[in-house]
Amino acid sequence: MPELDAQQQQAQQQINELETQLKQWAKEYYEQDAPSVEDAQYDRLYAQLTALAEQYPALIADDSITKQVGGNQLKDDLPKVNHPVPMLSLGDVFSYDELDTWFNTIQKQNEQSLTYNAELKIDGLAISLIYQEGQLVQASTRGDGSIGEDVTANIKEIDDIPQTLNEPLSVEVRGEVYMNKANFVALNEQRERDGLTTFANPRNAAAGSLRQLDPKITKQRKLSTFLYYAVDPLNSLNVTTQSELLEKLAALGLPTNPTNAVVSDLSESEAYIEQANAKRDQLAYGIDGIVFKVNDFALQNTLGNTVKVPRWAIAYKFPPEEAETVIQEITWTVGRTGAVTPTAIMDPVSLAGTTVARASLHNPAYLTGKDIRIGDTVLLHKAGDIIPEISEVVLSKRPSNAEPYPIPTECPVCHEALVHVDGEAALRCINPQCPAQIQESITHFASRQAMNIDGLGPKIVEQLLQRHLVQEVSDLYRLTFDDLIDLNKFGEVSANNLLTAIDQSRQNSVERLLFGLGIRNVGAKGAKVIAKHFGDLPTIAKATAEEIASIPGIGLVIGHSIAQYFSTPRAQALLEDLAGLGVNLAYTSEPLNITTDSIFNDKKVVITGKLSDMTRPEMTEWLEAHGATVANSVSKKTDLLIAGTDAGSKLTKAENLGVEIWSEAQFRDNMGE
Ligand code: NAD
Repeated sequence: MPELDAQQQQAQQQINELETQLKQWAKEYYEQDAPSVEDAQYDRLYAQLTALAEQYPALIADDSITKQVGGNQLKDDLPKVNHPVPMLSLGDVFSYDELDTWFNTIQKQNEQSLTYNAELKIDGLAISLIYQEGQLVQASTRGDGSIGEDVTANIKEIDDIPQTLNEPLSVEVRGEVYMNKANFVALNEQRERDGLTTFANPRNAAAGSLRQLDPKITKQRKLSTFLYYAVDPLNSLNVTTQSELLEKLAALGLPTNPTNAVVSDLSESEAYIEQANAKRDQLAYGIDGIVFKVNDFALQNTLGNTVKVPRWAIAYKFPPEEAETVIQEITWTVGRTGAVTPTAIMDPVSLAGTTVARASLHNPAYLTGKDIRIGDTVLLHKAGDIIPEISEVVLSKRPSNAEPYPIPTECPVCHEALVHVDGEAALRCINPQCPAQIQESITHFASRQAMNIDGLGPKIVEQLLQRHLVQEVSDLYRLTFDDLIDLNKFGEVSANNLLTAIDQSRQNSVERLLFGLGIRNVGAKGAKVIAKHFGDLPTIAKATAEEIASIPGIGLVIGHSIAQYFSTPRAQALLEDLAGLGVNLAYTSEPLNITTDSIFNDKKVVITGKLSDMTRPEMTEWLEAHGATVANSVSKKTDLLIAGTDAGSKLTKAENLGVEIWSEAQFRDNMGE
């Protein structure tokens, strides 16, 4: 190699530094599914590197990140799969000017005017599915583009991916597996309560849920899919354009995104981008841009690919929605499992359609890692388009007297010493008598999905605790009229109503009690499966972790949590106390309610939109008790969509697939059938 002049030497040094930093971030993002910086920050540095690469191509090494797809360290414990047709990344642009330049480059190489298929860029991870004679035989991740990870068993647990196509075709299709916003929020809330690290965005949550060994975890995480690509579509599916391909994939029963549009110039593309950006907040899933693809496959083949990206497609990335504000205070709350969580209280600021004044700081390590201090100016964004999160501290605006934030050593409520449990990110209060934990756990016990005690909200629980009327959930069943009548804002009617609601909850089938006890990792659905299997609580309390884990859909983590919970003298005493107070400990749901002759028996039902007569859990419970399976996403297999008001993409999809659609009123009319 000839000697470098001073300018080249400087460029080489810059390139080396950028490569080292970007490779480190790519490793965290692709291999560990745990990025430490925002995508926009990664993209900024990556753009600097590609600009240098264009100016000094000779200085770019063969193993440069600009020549690699994804991460190259695949998960050791997952089998590997070759991709004979590589799975590529996408080139990206960040402005209309750059998009226009890209259109012009493509147009210049062609005589006739072109059309492009515009699609939402889904914030998930790329997946390849191979069908042989219509049967799903293999599923794999993108990996380094040439070799991916075999995730076939996990993919089979994703509801909207059919095992069998509507035609017995042999084809490799590709697309995106993603986690919708509601499931992402729920998963992170659960992980925070359990003292686990949260996922940075839905893409990482989806990747973490798929790139692991236990199909049950994939099932619990409720992932969804959009497919948008087929290998050799001309021969395998007899289609000639990208827009036709999407129709064909849908006709085969594969999930596709219905919002694509064919555009022919920059102004139509801008209109599509503006429209997508405007409805972005209402979409059920996160998107991070728009993909434009040359529509005609013959032309795509002529344009071909680089080692990293197709030349016939480009991703327009949305500018990050950010806002700047100042940290006023950091507060700490104690959850029902004792996890102590910091929250930043900030000057209210408008961000992506809402006013934001609080952001969870998840756990002490997150707070110290970002070195957030009172008085700091911070940049905020919405993780996964939905959860306000602090991206970074603006160090140049840090007040000179801002001190590192001291992590508390004692519980903010009961003042007992806090502990770090091995392997957990959370700091915990382990005092079982901590009033904050008791308040949370009693509120949870009374909640709708648990014992469903109407009228027993957090404010009333707080008063009951302050007056020492309740220490344990069983004490609720000892409350008298005289106890309640003295409570703030209580009269005869409200006292009697609450007593009746408490009394009625004694009759609940035991899955509600099992969920209501607040045992870690035990959700409402899992509680039902376990209660149904064992029949009553005393039997569950005696079961070993392995016996519990042998139930389909229940893993060892849940098994251990339950066994450990009932091994304590406190839990055994509580069980006896509840039994003595006349609380039902048996599973009675099915014999009481299930009617297999219902018109809903064996039907796959999806619920969407806002309901007014019932809550979603109530409708789900009613449907399940009448033999239906309630799924999260609409697919060819869906028999019925029940749509409340303001229904969105599920309704559109059901319409496209010809699924039967009922209003809430139609559902109500048929409840007696
Ligand atoms: P990418 O995610 O920007 O784009 C390519 C991918 O888009 C495809 O592989 C496909 O999976 C997906 N995609 C979604 N919808 C699509 C559609 N309709 N049509 C076609 N493809 C669609 O590229 P990448 O190489 O996977 O990742 C690079 C990006 O990842 C960066 O731009 C950056 O934002 C992010 N990243 C972030 C970090 C970090 O530390 N925060 C690190 C590495 C990468």
